[in-house]
Amino acid sequence: MPTSRVPDEVCQQCGKAISRRAHVNIFEGRVVCTPCLGKLSEAGRKKEVAEHAERTTAEEPDIARARDQGVKISPGVTVAELGRLVAAHEAAGARARDVEYVRDWVYSVCRHTFCADWLKHSDAPFPAKLLSKAVKSLLASAEHVDQIYDQRRGDAGSNFERECEARGLEDDDCWENWFFFGPEGADEGSPIYAVTRALVEPQLGPHLPSRRADEAR
Ligand SMILES: [Zn+2]
Repeated sequence: MPTSRVPDEVCQQCGKAISRRAHVNIFEGRVVCTPCLGKLSEAGRKKEVAEHAERTTAEEPDIARARDQGVKISPGVTVAELGRLVAAHEAAGARARDVEYVRDWVYSVCRHTFCADWLKHSDAPFPAKLLSKAVKSLLASAEHVDQIYDQRRGDAGSNFERECEARGLEDDDCWENWFFFGPEGADEGSPIYAVTRALVEPQLGPHLPSRRADEAR
């Protein structure tokens, strides 16, 4: 005959048995194990904080700081709404910086491919939209974007300053547009260079100087 035993309590949150030696907790009328109690209390605390932020008007210094960053804020904004506006503004800023970096990188890889000394993107002998697919594809991968940030930007070779002067351009306006390839510049052997070449070469096809020279023959 099996001895009659008091069944183990079961946690009504995770469904695991609670050993009779363990402490049984009651949370909002339900029996829960200690790990679940911890999680539920933490979630409850977070929810309370979040609800409080939705009800409370943001403090003036916090609003002023956000306005200084360029965030547009209506009067009476709540703490929660201000947090969302600042986060969205920062995300948009980071995104715009990524787009600029990636576009500069793609143009720089093309410049290198053409062995050209373009000072501005618009010096490239093909329409800008030719590269938009490559830019978009690189932007879609956080890993690729990180690898681009690892390359050296803001240098375009030793003649750059002189060429800017000759064309009456401020080199500050142009310098930042480029990654320079060379011993102290961006790395031609890097995986991101190979990825980018593979993306742009099919697009560049008919515009490539070597191809044009072949066709002229
Ligand atoms: Zn549990």
